[in-house]
Amino acid sequence: SSGLGCPPDTLQLGRASWTFLHSLAAYYPAEPSLSQRSLMRSMMEGLAEFYPCHYCAAHLQQQIQERPPDVTSNTALSQWLCVIHNEVNELLGKPAFDCSRVMERWRQGPSDGSCG
Ligand code: FAD
Repeated sequence: SSGLGCPPDTLQLGRASWTFLHSLAAYYPAEPSLSQRSLMRSMMEGLAEFYPCHYCAAHLQQQIQERPPDVTSNTALSQWLCVIHNEVNELLGKPAFDCSRVMERWRQGPSDGSCG
C-alpha cells in the first residue's frame, strides 16, 4: 500500500463531519453578536454548497430551505442541527437521537464523569 490511507467514504466523512458540526454548535456563543449569527448562517449555507458528497449536499440544501438554521444561541443551533441530523437518520433507517441530550453528548459528557 502507498501508506497514505484512502480517501474517506460517505460513512467516514459523515461521522467526522457530524463530530465537527455538533461540536461547533455546542461551543457556539450563548449570546452571539449579529455578525457571528450572520457568519454561522453563511457557514451552514457554504456547507450545503460544498459538502463533498453531492446527494448529501443536495438534501442539506433542501433541509436549510425548509428549516433555516436557528443561529440565536448555542442551544438553539444544537437543537436545529439535531433535528437536521435526525432527518438524515430517518432517511437511512437509523434510530432517532434524543435531542434533549445533545449538549450532554457533545459538550458536558455524562454526569458520572466517565468521559474525562
Ligand atoms: P452518524 O450519523 O455519523 O452520527 C455520529 C454520532 O452522532 C452517533 O454515533 C451519535 O452519537 C450522534 N448522533 C446521532 N444522531 C444525532 C443527532 N440527531 N443529534 C446529535 N447527535 C447525533 N449519508 C447518506 O447515506 N445519505 C445522505 O444523504 C447523507 N447526508 C448527510 C448529510 C450531512 C450534512 C452529513 C454530515 C452526513 C450525511 N450522511 C449521509 C452521512 C450519515 O449521516 C452518517 O454520518 C453515516 O451513515 C455514518 O453513520 P453513523 O452510524 O456512524 O453515525
